[in-house]
Amino acid sequence: MPNLLLTYKCNRSCPYCFAQERQKAQNPDGDMFLSWPNLVTVVNYIVEDKQDAVPLLGGEPTLHPEFVDIYRYITARNLIVKMFSNGCMSHEKIEALLKVVDPDRSRFIINVNEERDRQSFETKMQAEFFRELGMVSGLSFNLFRPDPEMDFLLDLIGEYQLRPRIRLGLAHPIAGEPNSFLRPADYPDIAARVADFARRANQRDVFLSLDCGFTLCDFTDEQLGILTRAGAALKFNCGPIIDIGPDLSTWACFPLSSLQPQPLEEYPSLKALKAFYGTYINQETEKRRFAGVYKKCATCRHLKRKQCSGGCRSYAFEEKS
Ligand code: SF4
Repeated sequence: MPNLLLTYKCNRSCPYCFAQERQKAQNPDGDMFLSWPNLVTVVNYIVEDKQDAVPLLGGEPTLHPEFVDIYRYITARNLIVKMFSNGCMSHEKIEALLKVVDPDRSRFIINVNEERDRQSFETKMQAEFFRELGMVSGLSFNLFRPDPEMDFLLDLIGEYQLRPRIRLGLAHPIAGEPNSFLRPADYPDIAARVADFARRANQRDVFLSLDCGFTLCDFTDEQLGILTRAGAALKFNCGPIIDIGPDLSTWACFPLSSLQPQPLEEYPSLKALKAFYGTYINQETEKRRFAGVYKKCATCRHLKRKQCSGGCRSYAFEEKS
């Protein structure tokens, strides 16, 4: 399902930020915010693709001056608003959104950082967001340190009665741009921490889902068992997600956003665009003789059987890989 960026602007500056390459690449005279005609165009593509949700992203999507009207438009077209936000939304906008929010058509995934990576304004604004909109909000957390502390996520869910879901994302390198990310050498320890955390999440009836780029062999059978018993959504793949910018330029995903962006309207459908990126990224990684983040990926039976794609392909463009 493609993500639609309402703006490149953000009110945080996270060390792992995936969007910084796009923010810098943006034409300074270009559109900072998605226009109404472009919104309608993207929603039409999504409807033609028979998707039931419009994933909104940024920067920080709620910074769009017409965010609430955009929300109303999408829900009026009988689609779900799946919003990836940091929850740092002004009091006025929260009030305006509360007047129109449709719980059946709202899935907000709020990205929070640990206290050591958070500024005081984030804590304050997120607390208000959770108090008012917690019933439609789950959490997202990015793993970019080798020693993440995640239990505060369970406390937040309990305190604000949030949806009992946490998406765990691995911070990957962004081709051509420095950012904070986890190296494969850290993956076995991270797998152990994620499994431990899943055990505690399970005790509190909270479900985890792993985002793209996790590597299957870094989890032991016991850890996979713990995750499975906890009902975690597991996937070990890396494929074009497709992000669509405010100016309708598209790219495969944020870590690969510097590679040959394509104008959306040159493609008749999202399916055709996804097919382009699938082939193109395969060619580029093959050119670099990249089979996965480890040498052993080249002969791995899990790769052949498509159970694991060998981690994030952005490592193919890393000099160190
Ligand atoms: S493809 Fe690579 S990362 Fe995935 S399980 Fe095989 S060796 Fe591990």
